[in-house]
Amino acid sequence: MVETARRVNDMHSKFGYFYLLANKPGVINLGVGEPGFDTPPHIIEAAYEAMKKGYTHYAPSQGIPQLRKAVADKENRMYGATLTEKDILITIGAKEGIYLAMQTYLNPGEEVLVPDPGWVSYIQIAKSAEGRAVAYNAEGVPDIAEIENKITPKTKMIIINTPHNPAGVVYPKKFLEELGGLAQKKGIIVVSDEPYDEMIYEGAHYSIGAMFPENVITMNSTSKTYAMTGWRVGYAATKAPSSIEKMLNLQTHIISGVTTFAQHGAVTAYNGPQDCVREMTAAYKNRRDILAAGLDKKYFRFNIPQGTYYMFVDVSATGAKDGMEFATKLVEKNVAAVPGEFFGENCRQFVRFTFSQKEDDLKTAIERINEQAKEMALGH
Ligand code: PMP
Repeated sequence: MVETARRVNDMHSKFGYFYLLANKPGVINLGVGEPGFDTPPHIIEAAYEAMKKGYTHYAPSQGIPQLRKAVADKENRMYGATLTEKDILITIGAKEGIYLAMQTYLNPGEEVLVPDPGWVSYIQIAKSAEGRAVAYNAEGVPDIAEIENKITPKTKMIIINTPHNPAGVVYPKKFLEELGGLAQKKGIIVVSDEPYDEMIYEGAHYSIGAMFPENVITMNSTSKTYAMTGWRVGYAATKAPSSIEKMLNLQTHIISGVTTFAQHGAVTAYNGPQDCVREMTAAYKNRRDILAAGLDKKYFRFNIPQGTYYMFVDVSATGAKDGMEFATKLVEKNVAAVPGEFFGENCRQFVRFTFSQKEDDLKTAIERINEQAKEMALGH
């Protein structure tokens, strides 16, 4: 057998099981972060029209100019950025953007600060770049002093995620100003992962990229905002010198470019009517309130998420050994959730519930979750 490389051998693959569950018949998916809606019809229509018009060939590797302009306009209009088409790279979701950024900036052994809890893929992508992920606490708004303490001469990048998956925290302007100032002073690039920027229930989203355009790469996508997870269209936005150029070069050699007609659909998503976004966000807020009110407070401790469609719940009072045991047992009740340990070393007692799904399903899932907690507490 030919041995595979360390950079892939070190990645964990446990998450796959909970992904598979999402599609199992009868399982209510509170696991993977799928929107509870299908893509709005006007966006589908635009992609279909593009296909019929012959947009079925390779797109420019950087992305079609109309989409890069639509994205720059959105960031400028909503957050006061000063981006132009040349500052945008169209990517296969925010995920590929994060991959490109780590490959572009990290030499082997260089360090990237990542949130803990934090989205599962940051650490795995860092491993693929042979970088070293160093965790900082992100249960609430991160502490600038802690981040500063964790910076070493090897630190090259800091990843932040606002609104935050899984904690649901929306970062205040002051924190972003301080972090941007620190990164600038130390010569560190900030990757700001913002796919939930429009999914906010309390507070407001601020763009650290608009404040520090030469020190920040903003990652975002159509996935959550427009219920387009399967389209795989996202973007990286920055004015950091030679950043787009280097990431583009890498992208050219690995994917050529993002699916052409999907990009045309995305132009309509950003430039078309935005009522769909407002309607979905209002529905998610309602679903958040249903989950927060429905979970039995005797067994579950959690903060109310200000954004995203995730709730990160401490299950220790159920008597479960950890979140893994709770989530694994919950599968028997046909509910998928994600064990906390996938989000960081210190999250073993947590489970993440996604509350994007239809109200009826959510209510049924809540009954089953409470039932399981009761059973576990009684030692069944
Ligand atoms: N970042 C975070 C925090 C996420 O939750 C996700 C998706 N679950 C992504 C990035 C990647 O999303 P996409 O590639 O679909 O844009």
